[in-house]
Amino acid sequence: MNNSIKDSIDIQWSRIRNQLRNECGEVVFKNWLSSLTLIGIRDRQVCLCAPTRFMRDWIITHYKKYIYTIWVRENGTIDDVEITIPQATENLQISSNNITTTAATVDRECTNEKIGSALDHRYTFDNFVVDKPNEFAYAAARHIGVGSAVSTISSSNPLFLYGGVGLGKTHLLHAMAWNIRECNPNRSVVYLSAEGFMYNFVRALCFKDTLAFKKQLRSVDVLMIDDVQFMSGKGSTQEEFFHTFNSLIDHGSQVIISADRSPSSLKSMNDRLRSRLGGGLVADIQATTYELRLGIIDAKAEQLGIKIPRNVSEFLAYKITSNVRELEGAINRVSAHTQFVGSNITLESTQEVLRDLLQSTDDRRITIEEIQKKVASHFNVSLTDLYSSRRARQVVRPRQIAMYLTKQLTSYSLPEIGRKFGGRDHTTVMYAVKKVEELRVADSSFDEDVELLKRVLET
Ligand code: ADP
Ligand code: MG
Repeated sequence: MNNSIKDSIDIQWSRIRNQLRNECGEVVFKNWLSSLTLIGIRDRQVCLCAPTRFMRDWIITHYKKYIYTIWVRENGTIDDVEITIPQATENLQISSNNITTTAATVDRECTNEKIGSALDHRYTFDNFVVDKPNEFAYAAARHIGVGSAVSTISSSNPLFLYGGVGLGKTHLLHAMAWNIRECNPNRSVVYLSAEGFMYNFVRALCFKDTLAFKKQLRSVDVLMIDDVQFMSGKGSTQEEFFHTFNSLIDHGSQVIISADRSPSSLKSMNDRLRSRLGGGLVADIQATTYELRLGIIDAKAEQLGIKIPRNVSEFLAYKITSNVRELEGAINRVSAHTQFVGSNITLESTQEVLRDLLQSTDDRRITIEEIQKKVASHFNVSLTDLYSSRRARQVVRPRQIAMYLTKQLTSYSLPEIGRKFGGRDHTTVMYAVKKVEELRVADSSFDEDVELLKRVLET
């Protein structure tokens, strides 16, 4: 099977899972949809596997249409989604010789282990931007990644990385795997998502092949399990994982785990497993900061070979705060748009392209009134002054700054801003923005003043 096709199907599925989680909510996702594993795509048909007949029927009745719609959005060549259970899966596997499996037995250039999932070439240490929120996790990952026989500090085993969605856990895991392989090609590294682990396990059960599966897993030098929270609540798989885990650690192999929460918060794991998971080095990745987001935007722009003006990157870093994945999506959209249209990236075009995304973030963001209030009180002028047609210098400047900040910090268009400032024309707003930009360059104390206001508003 073609390596890149295989990779791209895995990546599609992981994106679809994220969309399902976002759109159906955490509870539905956790209770029903998280247990689905992707078997593959055959004849334009996606095959998914649910753990039990009951779950399969429920998912078909309530969510199949939904899953289908999201798949088509992601991959237009899909005609149908089929949901099976392990027994049926067995038949499917046997009767088909051109199925694309997620936990394939074909060898792939980038997975020298039969049971592991593929690694993403882009997820390397070089491409990972480090700042306060992730520096500890990064340092821990590098420490393991240097590829020494088992990490010399015994307390780094297992390494447990945790943090919210889209903050770089999978990226770091892949980076470690690449790094270890590069430093020591003889070490066997297996990277599996928790679903991948469950899938393999269920499949081994189907084929009455659990012994081989266990042997295979227990002979690796480094085992990585990503998103281990999805393994919660699954009795026999958890048990199997626990034994594998113990056996690996006892034999001096490195185990690396990621999860969206700390070991002690993995409530549906049994106590023994939970305490073993947290028994090594535990490192968290915290929510991104403004500085980290700026750094990521710069790095990403460089990778894409595009030029993002400073005011646009600041705007994006300010607005798109949920996670890095969303930020990347926004940058990709902006980049695709400019390539299409063949024009330079500007704040205006960015706001236009990302209108839908920004609207949803606006709901939880600064209002124009807040900006006006803060600026007015900072410069000791009244709100009425800001709206008025007074042209005295001590009023004009604050008004221009307020307009500028509104443009920077919200997704209002120039005419909308004009209306909110006493019914001014959009050219007035445009002039104000330009003026403030010029002054920021020319006058450093002015620049500091504006920056300070911006910071205050942002927090
Ligand atoms: P998680 O596994 O924690 O949900 P991912 O590792 O899949 O998150 O990260 C989501 C996206 O954001 C990936 O494309 C990844 O490359 C990117 N990303 C996350 N953190 C960083 C970072 N610090 N530097 C560069 N890219 C990052
Ligand atoms: Mg991940």
